[in-house]
Amino acid sequence: MNYHILTLFPDMVRDGLNTSIIGRAVEKGILSIEAINIRDYTKEKHGHVDDKPYGGGAGMVMQAAPVCDAYKALCTRLGGKRPRVLYMTPQGRVFNQSIARELSEEENLVFLCGHYEGIDERALEMIVTDSLSIGDYVLTGGELPAMVMIDCISRLVPGVLNNDLSAEIESFHDNLLEYPQYTRPEIYEGRQVPEILLSGHHKNIDMWRRQQSIKRTLERRPDLLENALLTEKERVFLQELTRLAKDGDKFSDTV
Ligand code: SAM
Repeated sequence: MNYHILTLFPDMVRDGLNTSIIGRAVEKGILSIEAINIRDYTKEKHGHVDDKPYGGGAGMVMQAAPVCDAYKALCTRLGGKRPRVLYMTPQGRVFNQSIARELSEEENLVFLCGHYEGIDERALEMIVTDSLSIGDYVLTGGELPAMVMIDCISRLVPGVLNNDLSAEIESFHDNLLEYPQYTRPEIYEGRQVPEILLSGHHKNIDMWRRQQSIKRTLERRPDLLENALLTEKERVFLQELTRLAKDGDKFSDTV
C-alpha cells in the first residue's frame, strides 16, 4: 500500500506516522508514506497557497492551482495512474471500519488535507473521488484525520500486524465490540481474571467471548446490533439480555 498525503504540513504527517507498528511496516516495505508539500507547487512568488474567499467572510481558502498541480505531478510519477483522492472534510461520509476495509484493497491512496477554511471548490470537483470525515466536529486541518485513517487502514493490510487474525476479530468485526481482555497477573488488587479464561477449554472460551461481545455491544453501542452477524443461538441470547435490561435486571455473565 502506498500512501500519498497532500498537505501544507508534511513534517506533521511524517513525524506522526514513523513509529511503532506503522513505522515498522514502512521499514519492511509493506507500506510507503509520501508527504507531498502542496506549497512546492505554488507559482506565487511569495509562496502563498491561500487567498481571501470570494464574496467575503472569515478566514482564507486554499487555492485550486497548487492542489491540482501537486496531484497532476503525482499522477505523472505514477505512470499516469489516477489513484483515489480522499478529501479530509467534516462534510464527508463518516469514516468507519468497513470503509477502511474497502480502502485497504487499493494499491495507492491519496489523502488531501485542507487547512484554513478549506480548499477552493473547483479543485475538489476536479480531483476528489471520496469525501471523508472522522466525526461531527471541526479540526484545524486534515492531517490528523489522514493519520487516523492511515493508521486504521494499515492494520488491515496483510503483513502489517504480526498476527493478521488480530485485525479480524476485534471491535466492529461482525458489527460487535470486542470482549474484555486480561493479562497477567491473575489477581490484581483483589480483582480476579474470569475463571473461564484460565480453564484452557477453547470452545467454552470462544463462546464466553462471543457472549461478552454481544453484551458489551448492547450496553455501549446498541445501534450496531441491527446489522450484527449473529447465529440463531446468539439471537436468543441477545433477546434474553435485552429483556433483562428492560426489566432493570443486571446482566449476569452467562444467561
Ligand atoms: N470551513 C470548513 C467547513 O465548515 O466545512 C472547515 C474547514 S477546517 C477548519 C480545515 C480543514 O480541516 C478541512 O478542510 C479538512 O481538511 C480538515 N477537517 C476539519 N475537521 C475535519 C473532520 N471532522 N474530518 C476530516 N477533516 C476535517
